[in-house]
Amino acid sequence: MAGEVRVVRERLVARTCAWCGEEVPYAGTGRPPAYCGAAHRTRAYELRRAQARAERPVGEGGRTREPVTQVVERTETVVRTVVRTEQERVPATRLSGEPYTLPEDAIEWAQALAHLRQAAEQGSLPDLASEPLARACEAAARALRTR
Ligand SMILES: [Zn+2]
Repeated sequence: MAGEVRVVRERLVARTCAWCGEEVPYAGTGRPPAYCGAAHRTRAYELRRAQARAERPVGEGGRTREPVTQVVERTETVVRTVVRTEQERVPATRLSGEPYTLPEDAIEWAQALAHLRQAAEQGSLPDLASEPLARACEAAARALRTR
């Protein structure tokens, strides 16, 4: 009976370096080379070590998986320029000889009038002054309301 026997043999003759990809011949004895030389074997070892170190927990020297964040301190300086126009003051002299001026704004006027009312309620104003003061206040109130 005629026949054919085919025998196929394979033999490793070269392998590429796991670091640089260069072809490394294999003589056929011993363990096949994984790298073209000691330098690339060392680099691959260092990389594996670094990756293992990075994968350890952060507390043991590993690398965080959190994204990088920034803490920004913001300082804002506002320079405000105020222009004040000197109001014309009405100089006057108190009975004691001390100079005084009129209230400068609405708040000071309201405070001065509140003091006047308090003095009237406490009876600390001279009786003769009551009527002229009341008329002056009424005239001022009329002027304020007709503005
Ligand atoms: Zn190599």
